[in-house]
This record gives sequence, structure tokens and C-alpha cells, in this order.
Amino acid sequence: QEQPFYRDTWAEIDLDAIEYNVKSMIRHLGPDGRVIAVVKANAYGHGDAEVAETALQAGAEMLAVAFVDEAVALRQKGVEAPILVLGASRPEDVQFCIDSKLTLTAVSLEWLMEAEKHVRNGTMDVHIKVDTGMGRLGLTEKEELDEAVELARKSEVLQFRGIYTHFAAADEPESDYTDRQFERFRQMLAGIDCSGLMVHCANSAAGLRFKDKIFNTVRLGISMYGLSPSSELKKSLPYELKEAMSLHTKIVHVKKLAKGESVSYGAVYTADEEEWVGTLPVGYADGWIRRLKDSEVIAEGKRVPIIGRICMDQCMIRLPERMETGTKVTLIGSQSEESITMDEVAERLDTINYEVPCILSSRVPRMFL
Ligand code: PLP
Repeated sequence: QEQPFYRDTWAEIDLDAIEYNVKSMIRHLGPDGRVIAVVKANAYGHGDAEVAETALQAGAEMLAVAFVDEAVALRQKGVEAPILVLGASRPEDVQFCIDSKLTLTAVSLEWLMEAEKHVRNGTMDVHIKVDTGMGRLGLTEKEELDEAVELARKSEVLQFRGIYTHFAAADEPESDYTDRQFERFRQMLAGIDCSGLMVHCANSAAGLRFKDKIFNTVRLGISMYGLSPSSELKKSLPYELKEAMSLHTKIVHVKKLAKGESVSYGAVYTADEEEWVGTLPVGYADGWIRRLKDSEVIAEGKRVPIIGRICMDQCMIRLPERMETGTKVTLIGSQSEESITMDEVAERLDTINYEVPCILSSRVPRMFL
């Protein structure tokens, strides 16, 4: 049952775009490529369960989240597919994770030994993480990895399901860092029988760029949402990406500003001449943060500027002419010929496109198309 909402600010999530983006990666990889759909952080702000179900229907075999809590949220929403927890979970939560049918990441040999002690019933599914240069989580020494693999294979309470690493710079075509990480991963895997395991190193960028070097699985995040892992990569994508999220609101108040009158906190914007101003019910508490002051939105198919400081719940726009209250305004997405992409907003914020949907707060209802 969808929760009704009483404010006209909403994000639209085009699940057909998610389906298309997942299917496109699977087609791109060919028959041996498998996909883990990365739905951490509420599916990068897009809605965890809805994206998860769509990705699974499109052919993803597993889901991945950062934390146990995110996996629990999916289970509570009825998602039954295998879920890999990418982060470092607490060894004392291992039994709970087994009961919740989660696959955990062994981030070190010590972690695996400690986690094993906490199994009371059943067996724990585990992927071993290797640190080949990300410097975040994982085993770095070959001897330790061999020991961890042996433990995972011999232990009666562990099920060794996979082994993986994470690239730090796969979105940078100019860098050879990924080649070096890839080579290190191969060295670490030497002598380990990987048959029957999910072996994965690729995020979206590596999946898009090096489909022959993925081992057997891609952990698909940003490009599932239709966003390019970097602007450099955007120029050489092997297939088109379809942006899944758009953000909209409606004008709730219209007024005429006289010359010399000001708008919003600090009165930093003052009209040079008589002009029409619309008030939008969206602000920094929604993730439309104050640094977006001076950016643009689309009303009646035209770009119009935000004026004055963005408030917690509202902001103001300058209108080219009088518009009706109730006029739809697009903050991210398209109207007629005009469009504002996630990349444009990210650029204005001097950040990466990943961050923009992630910071869109839970106060903004997600509508699934
Ligand atoms: N794998 C891990 C361990 C990650 O942390 C992430 C995202 O940050 C991904 C895969 C997905 O990466 P991307 O969104 O670039 O596809």
C-alpha cells in the first residue's frame, strides 16, 4: 500500500530504465557474466526493494548492500534473494545474519576466525575480500588469504561462496591503477580453486570498460541507475544508459516583486526590476542543499533561476512571466526540450553524480513508474 503524500515534491523512479540498464550490462557481458545488483544506501536513493525486485527480474543473481541493517530492511520488505553484505559486519551478529540468510564479507583472517566462533546453528555463507589497492577492507597478504580459504573450505560451519576485490580508479581511463590491481588480484588467486565460486572485481566502470576481465561477476551500482561512473567514461560507453530518477515539485505561491525588494534569508537577492517569483516547497532538508543557490530548474519547459538562499523546506525561482500555482517544476529530469541531468547538478555541487540521489532525503516520496 503506497503512503499518500500531501506535498507536491516527489522523485520519480523509472523502473523500466533500471531494467534496461541491468539487461544491457548482462547482454554486454555475454553468457558468462553474472550481475550482483548493488542496492546499498536505499539503492543510491532510488528505493531499495523496488530496485532490487526489478534488478532481479532483469537477471541479477544477487543483491549487495553495505550494512546488515540495509539487508534486514530488504528482508522486512519481503525480498528473499541472496544478499551480500559488503561492509565489515560484527562477528557477534553472525548468527542473526545466518538466520536472515545473508552472505557476509570476510574482511580479514582474524574476522573470519572470530566470526566462525559465533555460529550456533546452520552455516554462514561467506565471500572473502582481498585488498588489492583500495586500502579499505580485505586481506592483503597471499599467505593469509590461503589460510582464510583453507579455513573457509574446511570449517563445517562456513560455506565459501565467493572471493572479491574492489577497484579504486576503474572510472579513470588514463590511469593504469586498475591494471595493477587486476594483476595483484590474479596473483592473490594463484593456486586457489575458484570453481563454483563467485569471483568478482568489477564495479560499473570496470564492467563497462573491461568485460573480459571481470572473472565471472560484476557488482553493478551506478550504471544500473543510468548514471556514468565518470564524465570521462561517458564519452565511450558501450551502450546508452537511461537515467532512472527525476525530481519534481510544483509552484505553491506566486507573487510580483517590486524593484528593490528582496527574497529569502539574508536578503541577498534583490530585484533589479519588477519581476514574478514562484515559491517551491523543496529545500535543504530534502537534499536540495543550499549550495544549489543560483542553479536552475525547469518550469513550463524553460530553464528558470533559483533566487536567494535555499531554505530548509522551500526555495524561490524567478519566473519569465506570471505562472499559475500548481505549475509543475522539474529540478532533475526533462520537460519538453529542456533537461537537467544528475551530472549537471553534481557539477554545480562540485561532487560526483553518486552523491546527488544519495542525499535526497527520506522526506521526498519516491514514485515508481
Ligand atoms: N562494490 C563495492 C564494494 C562498492 O563499494 C560499490 C560502490 O561503491 C560497488 C561495488 C558499485 O560500484 P559502482 O556504483 O561504481 O558500480
